[in-house]
Amino acid sequence: ETSLPSIASFSQSLDNIMETNGFQLGSITELLGLPGSGKTQLCLQLCASVQIPKELGGLNAEALFIDTNTNFTISRFREILKATLLRCQSILGEPLQLTEDEALSKLHYVNAFGLEKFCAFMYRLPNFLGAHPNVKLIAIDSIAYPFKDGISTKQRTGLLFKQMAELQRMAVQHQIAVVLSNEMSTRVGLSTGAVVGSLGDAWAHRCNVRVLLSTPQIPQDPTERLALLLKSNVAPSTVARFKITEEGIRD
Ligand code: ATP
Repeated sequence: ETSLPSIASFSQSLDNIMETNGFQLGSITELLGLPGSGKTQLCLQLCASVQIPKELGGLNAEALFIDTNTNFTISRFREILKATLLRCQSILGEPLQLTEDEALSKLHYVNAFGLEKFCAFMYRLPNFLGAHPNVKLIAIDSIAYPFKDGISTKQRTGLLFKQMAELQRMAVQHQIAVVLSNEMSTRVGLSTGAVVGSLGDAWAHRCNVRVLLSTPQIPQDPTERLALLLKSNVAPSTVARFKITEEGIRD
């Protein structure tokens, strides 16, 4: 087991392929995948996981969910949160200090639909983090969506890279895990090296860790997913099998 602080996904298999046995603080992790591959579900799980005690894979901390495509539903988050808290209780064998209502209030939800709203919030982000020092996870679901149309590739690149530099700076300064979802439009084989999301090639260099989520070609059951580590600081590329269940992300 590693001593580096990170956020557990609740799939041991997925956490195992990560350098820090979970989602790394001080780092930007990109979740790449087709619609339905599980990017949003994993973000929601991490928003619950970050709140739980350290000995159970959390950080006793708060989460910021920046929703750019209105994928978020509070009912689904509540479901994952409830299951996560219950599971912690059963491991500990005693009630958690954290109640469901408290945990709900520790998820800071921001609707950033549209490029203007997104940029406006990103501009406010340093202030937000100053006012909420216990935020240890920022999930942006999805990073590509605000830049989808109405902006030239050149403009997009300039704006996005400036925001990424700022995110990187804040991730390191405040020791926050930044998790970005990025949708792909076409299926790629897990063996292909050249996996490109909707933000192009140069983008990949801005992320410290990149994980490709997918559905197995012939799944045994519809909950099964694969995670392929495309880029990491040290860990070699590996595949993990995990599941998306009613309770959230599991093995
Ligand atoms: P998109 O690019 O469309 O946002 P995504 O990668 O974010 O896609 P998710 O929304 O994370 O995809 O995953 C959707 C999948 O999660 C569903 O197909 C389903 O398999 C699973 N899922 C969603 N809600 C539940 C639930 N309540 N119980 C079990 N599985 C669920």
